[in-house]
Amino acid sequence: MVTSTSGGARPPLSARWGGRVNLFRAWGRILQGYRPTLSLEITRECPLRCPGCYAYEPGHLGAAGPLRDLTDFRGDDLVERVLRLVDETRPVYISIVGGEPLVRYRELNALLPRLSALGIPVQVVTSAVRPIPAEWRAIAGLHLCVSIDGLQPEHDARRAPATYDRILKNLAGHQVTVHCTVTGQMARQPGACEEFLAFWSARQGVRKIWFSLFTPQRGADGAENLNAAERVAFVERLRPLRPRYPKLDLHRRTLEAFLRPPDTPDECLFARTTTCVSADLRTPITPCQLGGDPDCSRCGCLASVGMKAFGDLRLGGVVPVRSIFAASERIGAAARGRRSNPGA
Ligand code: SF4
Ligand code: SF4
Repeated sequence: MVTSTSGGARPPLSARWGGRVNLFRAWGRILQGYRPTLSLEITRECPLRCPGCYAYEPGHLGAAGPLRDLTDFRGDDLVERVLRLVDETRPVYISIVGGEPLVRYRELNALLPRLSALGIPVQVVTSAVRPIPAEWRAIAGLHLCVSIDGLQPEHDARRAPATYDRILKNLAGHQVTVHCTVTGQMARQPGACEEFLAFWSARQGVRKIWFSLFTPQRGADGAENLNAAERVAFVERLRPLRPRYPKLDLHRRTLEAFLRPPDTPDECLFARTTTCVSADLRTPITPCQLGGDPDCSRCGCLASVGMKAFGDLRLGGVVPVRSIFAASERIGAAARGRRSNPGA
């Protein structure tokens, strides 16, 4: 599952690349001409019909057509095909979205331990519409991210049958990150973010809480969208809440970056470091996991703004990280060229 409204839960850099060691591995992959993150729509199916879900927008996959029309796989065939894709793309981090990944929980029961054995951290993004298998608790490097669209009344209306009651039951015994995509409707309720934080912070199995903002396609209009003033108000409301809710995983710089997302996909480090593949395990999703023609100027994806904040850092106070990244990417492109044309 991708979160209904803003492009799946894409974790901040620290979580995505699993700390410093994996950050160096990720950099190594870039120098070799690979993208360090693989985001995989593991199935075309989902029992939910969330308003604003980008995955089922007609333009999500461009000329490849709607996600529901794609061929997808099951059983051992799916497991082996994913492992082959991982072998080809050599990610240091994998995000499994959908559709709803739990539709393929049997396959994931086989696949996740094998990815864990390869030492690759994996995030499964789910609506928690069905129970999460108990055996997943013992899988090293597995992160569960549950998408929740606001407070209970709004969430239940948007995401039934994955209601609050059902989610709470299905998460029992697991450690999860809660990811909320803030829509315009939620942003227009001044106390909603704090109420959300208070509710989910009090749940024992919740390790972290993430917020993204709804990201529309270009030219899209609708109640889900936040206008510029609502975006500023969101940042202002969250700023004082950071110290009060330790489970809120939101760096100060990331919070500020919500006000200045990347201008284009070319400037988006998240898009440039992630290979996104749809349910036929072949069709690329471009320019980022959202697909279609997303409006970067109104992007609220946590991963994108988190990486924007990271790219703007200056090493030694002088060289922006994004310049180092661009230079590494050029080295990687040359390495890729040599691989594909060894005689040249
Ligand atoms: S649960 Fe399904 S319908 Fe809802 S956002 Fe995720 S993929 Fe879309
Ligand atoms: S900035 Fe643009 S390319 Fe990057 S995640 Fe947001 S919408 Fe996608």
